[in-house]
Amino acid sequence: KDEHLRKPDWLKIKLNTNKNYTGLKKMMREKNLHTVCEEAKCPNIHECWAVRRTATFMILGSVCTRACRFCAVKTGLPTELDWEEPERVADSVALMNLKHAVITVVARDDLKDGGSAILAETIRAIRRKSPFTTVEVLPSDMGGVYDNLKTVMDAKPDILNHNIETVERLTPRVRARATYKRSLEFLQRSKEMQPEIPTKSSLMVGLGETKEEIIQTMDDLRAHDVDIMTIGQYLQPSKKHIKVVKYYHPDEFNELREIAMSKGFSHCEAGPMVRSSYHADEQVNAAAKQ
Ligand code: SF4
Ligand code: SF4
Repeated sequence: KDEHLRKPDWLKIKLNTNKNYTGLKKMMREKNLHTVCEEAKCPNIHECWAVRRTATFMILGSVCTRACRFCAVKTGLPTELDWEEPERVADSVALMNLKHAVITVVARDDLKDGGSAILAETIRAIRRKSPFTTVEVLPSDMGGVYDNLKTVMDAKPDILNHNIETVERLTPRVRARATYKRSLEFLQRSKEMQPEIPTKSSLMVGLGETKEEIIQTMDDLRAHDVDIMTIGQYLQPSKKHIKVVKYYHPDEFNELREIAMSKGFSHCEAGPMVRSSYHADEQVNAAAKQ
């Protein structure tokens, strides 16, 4: 009966791996590092790692204190903090010769600083070892404690990314603990703290939102001075996760991209396989040209 919800052909992409990729995977295990690219089985991994030289690391451990209904990260009480993690991430960024490194975190609601000190240290460690690599960070809302956000902004990432994930109406059903308003405010505050650092946010579609709600989200992001937007198809990571309501056609993504650009974003990526970090290297340039 779910016939209409069978995965469309444009989502059936074979994971393209090669020897280079296998070597990098081995290094990640040796250094006890986690990448979203591998854990989310991202279909863009070959293009990102080998061609674009971009990767997304997940730091502060691999266990999250929240349980968002779309997310495949394990939920639980995280273990202790690993102060050597920033150096290990920086070593890997240098070894992979990355042009652009994306650093995302699990939500550490168990920590007073939300993990901001380690995130800031990771930015600095990458700068020391790879001064030409651009660094994009994706902090959690850190409970809306703006001193924590300031710690991160003071380390001057090249892009501050915080995902709105879904439209306002669906937020309580989709995200755990986070609120739509707090995420908007978080983005606005980061812009106020460092106006020259571009801000970015991603929306997943396919969760039952309407087109009007998507457009409203674009307006809300622009009203909070967000520069870059990405829009991608939600895919259910397992049967336990929230269901896909709709698969958008590539043409619909193109239309959404055009609408977003007409709202004044400096850059928008939209497509079935677009992830928050997809083509992120281009976005740094687009934002810099503004
Ligand atoms: Fe990794 Fe993001 Fe590229 Fe996917 S799109 S491979 S998660 S950097
Ligand atoms: Fe996943 Fe982030 Fe939600 Fe944690 S806070 S469950 S890592 S989306």
